[in-house]
Amino acid sequence: MTALFYILAFIFGAAIGSFLNVLIFRYTPQGRLFDGKRLGGRSHCPYCGHVLGALELVPIVSYLVQGGKCRICGHGLSIQYPLVEFLGGAIFAGLPIFLNSFYVKSSVLFAAFALPFWYYCLVGAWIVVFLVWLVMTAIDLRHYVIPNELNLLLVLLGVVIVYIVAGHGDLLFPFRTSFLEQYELLFSPWSNPVVTHLIGLAFGGSLFGILVAVSRGRGMGLGDVKLAVAAGFVLGFPDIVLATMLAFILGGFVSVILVLLRQKTMRDRIPFAPILVLGFVLTVFFGAAIVNGYFRLFSL
Ligand SMILES: [Zn+2]
Repeated sequence: MTALFYILAFIFGAAIGSFLNVLIFRYTPQGRLFDGKRLGGRSHCPYCGHVLGALELVPIVSYLVQGGKCRICGHGLSIQYPLVEFLGGAIFAGLPIFLNSFYVKSSVLFAAFALPFWYYCLVGAWIVVFLVWLVMTAIDLRHYVIPNELNLLLVLLGVVIVYIVAGHGDLLFPFRTSFLEQYELLFSPWSNPVVTHLIGLAFGGSLFGILVAVSRGRGMGLGDVKLAVAAGFVLGFPDIVLATMLAFILGGFVSVILVLLRQKTMRDRIPFAPILVLGFVLTVFFGAAIVNGYFRLFSL
């Protein structure tokens, strides 16, 4: 029964991923993200204009069956199609599994009751956060820009998450208001979620604001600052600190590799949203484990 539920969640998520692909491919930096005119109209091959039939619109499967090519003109299709569909499915099926083990199994109070409505809202909000991060990553890779609408959406989702955690934190305790779990206490003297998330917002904004000001916009742009503000609010303090540290370490590696492979030179801009998002995701899934591993490395 449970397995069936997660399989259905994956299929639903893959279909959502299919829609996100439309959103990503039809986006232009000059227009708005949610443009009804551009989003309307049937899906077609971007090379020959062939309108896709029902069998060509099955997430992941169609791409695999057609060998990654258009059925009519034979032109190769972007790997982004199946990748975003798969990640959409993985988010819908995998994130609830992770969050259940993070929130529910750690709570004594939860075990006795059926899961309350607000818990589903919390999981739903996190699913949408991850979908927003996915769309941002794909759009920044293509256009070197992060649409304002997505950062705004993140802030709104942050409000939902903070509202729920602040209202029901007593059921999520101990140490489930931060993905660093008990290590939160080491870094943050504050425990009120409203306070920690506002400090996360201020931390993300000031760190990236200073970086962009010092580098005069080379390397990083205003969109990255807005993302750091929005994600700082969603993740809260001290999670955002670990997330940005991981992003800088990963960013360093990625830049060196791209320069060595001569894909980029030192002067080129590298889209930073995908690297930031990787830092966020690693913090959510492995935050406590990473801090724990770091301490054990120094036998603390
Ligand atoms: Zn075609």
